[in-house]
Amino acid sequence: MKVTVVGTGYVGLVTGACLAEIGHHVICVDQDEMKIEKLKRGISPIYEAYLEDMIFRNIQEQRLSFSIDMEAAMPGSQVVFIAVGTPSLEDGDVDLSQVEKAAREIGKHLSAYTVIVSKSTVPVGSCRRIAQIIKKNLIKEVSFDVVSNPEFLREGTAIYDTFHGDRIVFGSRSKKAVDILTELYKPLHQKILVTDPESAELIKYASNAFLATKISFINEMANLCEKTGGDIQAVAEGMGMDQRIGNKFLQAGIGFGGACFPKDVSGLLKTGEKYGYDFKIIRQTLAVNSTQKQKPLEILEKIIEDWKDIKIGILGLAFKPGTDDVREAPALYIIKELYGRGVHVKAYDPVANDNMQSVLSFPVTYCNNPYDAVSDCDAVILVTEWQEFKELSLRKIRRLMKRKIFIDGRNVFASESMKKKGFDYYPIGICCKE
Ligand code: NAD
Repeated sequence: MKVTVVGTGYVGLVTGACLAEIGHHVICVDQDEMKIEKLKRGISPIYEAYLEDMIFRNIQEQRLSFSIDMEAAMPGSQVVFIAVGTPSLEDGDVDLSQVEKAAREIGKHLSAYTVIVSKSTVPVGSCRRIAQIIKKNLIKEVSFDVVSNPEFLREGTAIYDTFHGDRIVFGSRSKKAVDILTELYKPLHQKILVTDPESAELIKYASNAFLATKISFINEMANLCEKTGGDIQAVAEGMGMDQRIGNKFLQAGIGFGGACFPKDVSGLLKTGEKYGYDFKIIRQTLAVNSTQKQKPLEILEKIIEDWKDIKIGILGLAFKPGTDDVREAPALYIIKELYGRGVHVKAYDPVANDNMQSVLSFPVTYCNNPYDAVSDCDAVILVTEWQEFKELSLRKIRRLMKRKIFIDGRNVFASESMKKKGFDYYPIGICCKE
């Protein structure tokens, strides 16, 4: 099938590359010329495991191409995906301007029956709105269907997730459109749930809000463990052994971030408000998360009496391992707070240094390896649980640090062993008995 994907970000690019990999002919369109120029040369503008190889291979095999021109890309496409960004507005509502612009462009260039797929995460009712915009912008009378097909991939394992997803959801009342999409996705051999567009749109928000709530729940349990002498890792293990609960998303830490959870939970809250419903649980999910992000600072406030001449090393800038994405990353918040206290911040991330540098307007010393980032520091905060950090020489770290304060925001290390090695060690949700 010939497919157009509008938006070549974390979702659009992975979708386009994977659809080409299973044999379709895909054109990925983006309004960002620099991105498209890089992609034409086979260079991925984002870090995602296996993605660049897949892009390069499919360009070579002439199944994948890139363009900034919708007019050139659309003719002959049976399916057009909308995979543009849906960031949060100031008030937490969803900014649909990129989706609306994409819909206008699609409308202008539609010349035969096409299935328009909304892969962007959009509030309930958006498919209807997309269809209205397309209709208004049609140059000639053609039929089309708009289907909600929410994306569930995780950054860091996006290719794996696309090929091994738990489910594919189609929200549509058109049998013709569902049949075409079923055929498109057939080589993936995944369970398909067909429902109405409104339910499909809500499935995505409900899934993300539920996972975020699981994280905030375990973080609250962690806080209680610290007060009562419990160990959150033992508590989570015991909970996770219950198959009704499951062991995923039960890792206590310094909160969730990223381009999805914070904005999608806020977006669902706003949807509730618009329909006169106060979604109390997820309101608290967000509140708990913003308190949790402050934990490293609360710990430091208790230990550091004078912030003058303090140096702190940050290990990990991406919002999670496996990605270079720093959108809403806990590290962003922590670094800003430290800078506000006059701290000299040193930082290292295996792939996200450049992205962090491009969003922070004040000086941070970005290092090429973790040892430089901790060298001469009073304290270290481990923010992202990269595998590389789990394999660090802790003796070397201790030797390089000035004071030995180690805040482990992701509970990567074992408390007893860290204490034995001479660190002043602060994990999350583990009462460090003397
Ligand atoms: P992104 O910001 O990385 O990429 C969006 C891309 O769309 C950008 O390259 C931008 O230049 C391009 N774009 C915007 N408007 C355009 C237009 N009119 N025409 C052409 N290109 C345009 O976003 P993302 O992280 O890939 O997310 C895309 C959508 O998928 C969002 O709704 C998001 O919530 C959802 N989603 C994201 C993830 C994730 O892990 N990132 C997972 C599931 C769902």
